[in-house]
Amino acid sequence: MSSLDLLIGGERRKGSGPVLPAVNPYLGETFAEFSTATAADVDAAVAAAADAFESWRRVSGYKRAECIFALADLLVAESERLGTIETEDNGKIIRETRNQLIFAARNYRFYAGAADKLTGETKPLDRDTVFDYTTREPLGVCALITAWNSPLQLLANKLAPALAAGNTVVVKPSEHTSISTLEFGTLCEEAGFPPGVINIVCGAGETGEALVSHPKVDKISFTGSVKTGSRIAEVAARSITPVTLELGGKSANIIFDDADLDRAVGGSVAGIFAAAGQTCVAGSRLLVHESVYDEVLENLALRAQEIRLGDPLKPETEMGPMAHRAQMDAVLSHIELARSEGAELVIGGDSPEGFGNACFVAPTIFANVDNRMPLAQEEIFGPVLAVIRFSTDEEAVNIANDTRFGLAAGIWTSSISRAHLVSRELRCGNVWVNTYRSSAPQAPFGGTKMSGYGRERGIEALDYYMRVKNTMVELSELARDPFKLGT
Ligand code: NAD
Repeated sequence: MSSLDLLIGGERRKGSGPVLPAVNPYLGETFAEFSTATAADVDAAVAAAADAFESWRRVSGYKRAECIFALADLLVAESERLGTIETEDNGKIIRETRNQLIFAARNYRFYAGAADKLTGETKPLDRDTVFDYTTREPLGVCALITAWNSPLQLLANKLAPALAAGNTVVVKPSEHTSISTLEFGTLCEEAGFPPGVINIVCGAGETGEALVSHPKVDKISFTGSVKTGSRIAEVAARSITPVTLELGGKSANIIFDDADLDRAVGGSVAGIFAAAGQTCVAGSRLLVHESVYDEVLENLALRAQEIRLGDPLKPETEMGPMAHRAQMDAVLSHIELARSEGAELVIGGDSPEGFGNACFVAPTIFANVDNRMPLAQEEIFGPVLAVIRFSTDEEAVNIANDTRFGLAAGIWTSSISRAHLVSRELRCGNVWVNTYRSSAPQAPFGGTKMSGYGRERGIEALDYYMRVKNTMVELSELARDPFKLGT
């Protein structure tokens, strides 16, 4: 069984915290272990990143790009191995974890391509003796904290723009899925990043808290729950540290009466049951026009029942287990609450038999849900779909927006004007039309309301890792003395 250590200042170090097990949620067995960091280890990692920043920020964009491109190549070469580790660690099916790593590599290449194109501007002022220009500078040490559902893909969204912009980083993966990130640290060293540019510390909330409250951290980028995100924003407010928050969702997929129903049902099934519902953008509310409601519900139930549950390492498996036991218990208690509140269970609702210790929850569909129920308002982060009936476009938009979250939404229609009009009214960061959960390195991603703020991916993400400096140069020898006369 492998035992992995932290990465601090280019060295592998045992943390002074307890060694934690990495548990395979399908087998219920420990397959590796890893060392965790106390506040003293976090301090060492931040110090290493701060030291490295002084030289890394002076490295040319072209050279930074070379390292990032090399990292992308190594990630592709190692995608089988790292994908297998992620599947063992969080139970996500192997097809998806491997694809996510290929996608992550594309993300690294996208920002590597931008690293030597980070220009400023000249500003035309109203005084022609003054030359004014802006430059964009890296922020310094960035704390990058990720959730357990897609460790290396979530990290790529943060690490690629942070490095391209010239920052150094301290990464903290989730305590539930630390192994792939620690292994990835070795690729970072092979890619040629100088020691201290990328540091990795592991541990649970206390380690994260020590990192985000460290006075030498200049930027925090967090992906995780609203509860933790809110706590981080509170801690960061004390030191005025900028934060990007990618939090939860309760996204609505809306099927209109003119939709291609076969496609809409397929997309909605994938939207909620892919990754066993453990994605921030899960289409966990399905809004269906009353005229097609019965047909959609029937097809939905048929397709959901056909989903092949099983060993996530087998290529034929379509849905794996919950990532860990506590998550399975949380999902099952949401289901119990929905039943006790009178939601109409169509399929699923339990932990299916025949899977031994595996943390499975069956694909579950509730029909005729009232949007005010906790089932329609709380993020469950599991394979649980709430189906809601609507009769007008306006009502669909109101229901979709009637949530404290604002991450994503899906529109299924054959009317191009309806698609744009409805998209305009939806209060969320991402809208898909006749597709769902598609992503691209070029397309910015992020939320509104309690789904967070800031954007990842796209050229926009670079702005969250740089600050603008303005330089004003008086060119005239005859300029007034600003001290004596004012400006
Ligand atoms: P979580 O908030 O429990 O943990 C996320 C990370 O924060 C972990 O690394 C954890 O150790 C760390 N952490 C915990 N307490 C901390 C503290 N006080 N200070 C600093 N760090 C701390 O979330 P989770 O259960 O790992 O992930 C599930 C959540 O993540 C869901 O709500 C999901 O929607 C969200 N998520 C969002 C996105 C997105 O892009 N919007 C993507 C994936 C997951």
